[in-house]
Amino acid sequence: MAEDVLAAVRTAPGRTEVRSFAMPEVPDDGALLKVEVAGICGTDVKMYGKPPFDAPVIMGHENVGTIAHAGPAFTRRHGVAEGDRVFVEHYVGCFHCEWCHAGEYRHCENTDWRTNPDARRYGYTSADNPYHLWGGFAQYMYLPWNAVLHAVPDGVSAELAGLVTPLSNGIEWALVAAGVGYDSTVLVQGPGQQGLSQVVACKQAGASTIIVAGTTRDAARLQLAKDLGADHVVDVTVEDPLTVVRDVTRGKGVDVVLDCTAGAGTAPVLLGVDALTRREGVMVVQGELAAFPDFPLKKITEKAITIKSARGHSYRSCELALAQLASARFPLDRLATHSFGLDQVDHAIRAVGGEVEEDVVHVSLLPWAGVR
Ligand SMILES: [Zn+2]
Ligand SMILES: [Zn+2]
Repeated sequence: MAEDVLAAVRTAPGRTEVRSFAMPEVPDDGALLKVEVAGICGTDVKMYGKPPFDAPVIMGHENVGTIAHAGPAFTRRHGVAEGDRVFVEHYVGCFHCEWCHAGEYRHCENTDWRTNPDARRYGYTSADNPYHLWGGFAQYMYLPWNAVLHAVPDGVSAELAGLVTPLSNGIEWALVAAGVGYDSTVLVQGPGQQGLSQVVACKQAGASTIIVAGTTRDAARLQLAKDLGADHVVDVTVEDPLTVVRDVTRGKGVDVVLDCTAGAGTAPVLLGVDALTRREGVMVVQGELAAFPDFPLKKITEKAITIKSARGHSYRSCELALAQLASARFPLDRLATHSFGLDQVDHAIRAVGGEVEEDVVHVSLLPWAGVR
């Protein structure tokens, strides 16, 4: 095997350097992934601009690749052979706490960098830790015994498999958290990769009305939302979204609001509260706001609205996302709009953040491209 591994390392806020690491010695119960694609999402934009700590980090938490080398104990535990293509979850649970036993390893202390400085989570863990290769913006990634793998079905390309994370979030938030099902009416706010994935999940689950809200800048994405099955799209820059929701639902409002605007302030939450049906609606939110002045708690209580947190994905939602990709029922390849090489990590993250490039939906980082 090659002696050195190239990786893009975040060294400071908004700064990346390509560095070379020695190929790690893989123990019996570990493995190495040859990274094919690392997906980039809005979280990367946030973590790149304002890193939560100073240590050098190889970012990249939505990773697909092939098993390059596996120790015998790893092979026995995971049932994978060298050459198999897998999607690797970014969570690295302890597998003995109550959350891990319940299958909810996303909540495990072992993988929560917010509360545990020694946590392991791909894309968030310092490269100073043993084995160093803890992120997908690298040619290889280290897999410990407790990495969570999913076999990528035959016929699903690495680039398509790179959509597993947003799609599994779509399934988790819309179907599991919000209970979208047959005949549900849904408002999806924000037509980025996350919002479009919610559209697919809702459509597949049988939602009867899917409304997607975006801005004039989102024109191409709103068209893609329609092509993926949205019943109505609304440009909030030119139309009042609440009027559209009321017209479309004959005054009733929607059952479910999914906020995929990530950082658009209080407006989407306030719209969501008004757009929900008079009683018992569900709103899935993402925590971008540290504070919310004049939070409409009275209205939320009177309408018996349930607020749920968008908190990643489960094992099952990843499996369902892979099955959805393999089915080719939706033109999901159209989400994969841009790809960049290892020397363009900075540009790629800024593209997701809307600073450079047009009509970006999903960006793939290809660690074997752009290196000399
Ligand atoms: Zn992500
Ligand atoms: Zn655990």
